Amino acid sequence: MFIDALGWEIIKKHDFCAQSLPFRYPVKMQFGYSSTAIPTILSGKKPVEHKHFSFYYYDPVKSPFKIFKYLLLQYLPGKIFNRWRVRHILSKIIKKIYGFTGYFELYNMPYERLPFFDYCEKTDIFAENGLAPVKNLCDVLNENNKKYLISDWRKPQAFNIEQMKRAVKEKTIEFGFLYTADFDGFLHDNIKDAGAIAKEAKKYEQSIEELLQIGNDNYEDFTLAVISDHGMTPLRGTLDLKAQIDKLGLKFGEDYAAVFDSTMARFWFLNSPAREQIMRVLNTQPNAKLLTQEEKEEYGIDFEDNMFGEEILLLEPGVQTAPCDMGLCALPGMHGYSPEDKDSYACYLSNKAVSTPPEWVGDYFNLMLEHIK
Ligand SMILES: [Zn+2]
Repeated sequence: MFIDALGWEIIKKHDFCAQSLPFRYPVKMQFGYSSTAIPTILSGKKPVEHKHFSFYYYDPVKSPFKIFKYLLLQYLPGKIFNRWRVRHILSKIIKKIYGFTGYFELYNMPYERLPFFDYCEKTDIFAENGLAPVKNLCDVLNENNKKYLISDWRKPQAFNIEQMKRAVKEKTIEFGFLYTADFDGFLHDNIKDAGAIAKEAKKYEQSIEELLQIGNDNYEDFTLAVISDHGMTPLRGTLDLKAQIDKLGLKFGEDYAAVFDSTMARFWFLNSPAREQIMRVLNTQPNAKLLTQEEKEEYGIDFEDNMFGEEILLLEPGVQTAPCDMGLCALPGMHGYSPEDKDSYACYLSNKAVSTPPEWVGDYFNLMLEHIK
């Protein structure tokens, strides 16, 4: 059972499933967001191998968004097309027109900048060949002729939980991957409210205990593991990096390109004077630092072609870029900081002992394989 953003700190503080899942490990997250953590979990591979990191990357030649050069939505009165709901509807339309089967969202990406970017999750990463040429969980289950159920991430969480309970009760499967993502949204808004978290966590504990009961009643050997992708870090400050870069008066798409994610900013330099000017700004940030080559290698994001940015500025835990290309305002909680920070840690909880304790979220894959092969 995957629970998005169920971090180790929360597990500890709330004694989450302490009785029912006694085998418990803090697990280092994959540097980045769920957009890279989930492909890592589903394949056991690093981002340099599965090529999924942050959603948007500079590629003006292959950009599927060239039409935005002519739509000029940013000039429409009242900025109606910049409202979140309108952007969400527009994302659905684009998804349909281009036949994207993956998770697609425009977020707060400026329309006029979209033609410079491509998007890494155009296909459904959970489906067969979803991470091709890298094999994903679905491919391995098919190869081993397993009867399985992988929840549909498009479906509501309550539906996915009920569907998995039913499959376990009816013994129609040998392996299940139950996907839930609502806890992430909840924690983004409520990370500072311990009472609300305790109440919400109880609901998950109840579902887990029910599932465990049904599993033990129907199978001789039933393993239930709860896995997560990262934790949640409370907000403690904001940084308007976009304004600092805009002030330089450089031209986007001619001098540089950049994506301002909520906890990092990624840059591509299109000439050397622009590089010098931007680097001066990046090197003098009190609450952020540029990733070193060693860090990029360690996190598995040392892409040869700098696909996701030549330089990556990472903010200190708790500081958010606001406004950024993901949203206008900072949220009470965010993830995507240094994997070494305590609030970043994910967790692995199980009713059964494991052969090798997972240290990094990509290690879940091998633990799943042990139950498949
Ligand atoms: Zn999140």
